[in-house]
Amino acid sequence: MSSEPFRRPFAASMARGLKGLCPACGQGHLFWAYLKVEPICQSCGHDLARYPADDGPAYFTILLVGHLVIAPLLLLPVIWQAPASISVPATLIPLAAATLFLLPKVKGTFIGLLYALNVKDTDAKLHTADALK
Ligand SMILES: [Zn+2]
Repeated sequence: MSSEPFRRPFAASMARGLKGLCPACGQGHLFWAYLKVEPICQSCGHDLARYPADDGPAYFTILLVGHLVIAPLLLLPVIWQAPASISVPATLIPLAAATLFLLPKVKGTFIGLLYALNVKDTDAKLHTADALK
C-alpha cells in the first residue's frame, strides 16, 4: 500500500461532472436518464454508484435558484404591482425552468466533488452522530 496521500484533481473532476461526464475519465456519460447516475462508467468502468449525492444537489440548487432567480425577481416592482394571475406564472415558470436546468449540472458537479474527495456510500456510516451509538 502506498504512503502517498490520495489525490484527485478537484477542478477537473467537478468540471467533468458539470458537463455530465464521468469524473474519473471525462469520456463516459454520468447520467443514463435526467438524474439517474450510471452505475458503471461505460468508458472506463469506474463504479459511479458509490457516490452518495443524496440531498446535496437539491440543497445547492435551491441555494443557487434562490439567489439567481428569486432575489432578483423580488427587486422588480412589476412583481408586486401586477395582478397575481400575471405575477405568479411570470415567477414560477422561470423558477421551474432554472431549477430543472441547474439540477443535473449541480448533481454532476457534486458527484465530481465526491469523486475528488474519494467519498463512498460506506462513508455515510462514519458520521460522528452515528459513532455515539
Ligand atoms: Zn469513466
